[in-house]
Amino acid sequence: MNPLKYIVDFMFPRRCHICGGSLAEDEECLCTICLGALPRTGFHRVEDSRNAMVQRFAGLVPFRHASGHFFYSPQSPIAGLMIDLKYHHYSSLARRLGRVMGEELRTTPFLSDVDCVVPIPMHWLKQSIRGYNPAREIAVGFAEGSDLELVDAMIMTRHRRTQTKQTLDRRLRNASGLFAVTKPEQLDNRHVLLLDDVCTTGATMLAAAQTLRRTVPDAAISMLTLGVTF
Ligand SMILES: [Zn+2]
Repeated sequence: MNPLKYIVDFMFPRRCHICGGSLAEDEECLCTICLGALPRTGFHRVEDSRNAMVQRFAGLVPFRHASGHFFYSPQSPIAGLMIDLKYHHYSSLARRLGRVMGEELRTTPFLSDVDCVVPIPMHWLKQSIRGYNPAREIAVGFAEGSDLELVDAMIMTRHRRTQTKQTLDRRLRNASGLFAVTKPEQLDNRHVLLLDDVCTTGATMLAAAQTLRRTVPDAAISMLTLGVTF
């Protein structure tokens, strides 16, 4: 180990984001035990009838694959991580989780014919207030872990009210016309993986997929989120 790094680690030990235990040299943000214990959905390898993401979007927009990687519930450890990702600017944690997801999906059929990953954008005003877009940080890590190209091809065109207490119907109406594709030529005739941090009702992801479908009809669409409710 680099002597300076050794001293810094000794004086300011790096801690696991979940259990608070000190991290080994090759661990980043999460210890191996906590990372291994995060509940994976396995949706990418189950039949469609058992894949809650596929069921959520079936019939609403044409797509090839859909998955959420970790089960998300208010009681699950991933919920605490998500709050930190969304509100506390933990970009290194977002990238770490994205990279884990990319590495775990890299050799699976889920990604076998995907050409590029497009993060779900945040409105520029919200992003400037928050300092970063967690979905994009997850996508940066995911692109590294999966060896896929990252393309910032979409923008959010208007600000919207926070959605947590709205009904699905209101969320869908609120999400209509929310996105625009700014670089359609970079997605044409490609298989695009839309990536977001968490999927609850699916309204945001659906709005992005419908916009992509309308703007770049020759692009194939798949959808992936780090966390998914069930
Ligand atoms: Zn831990």
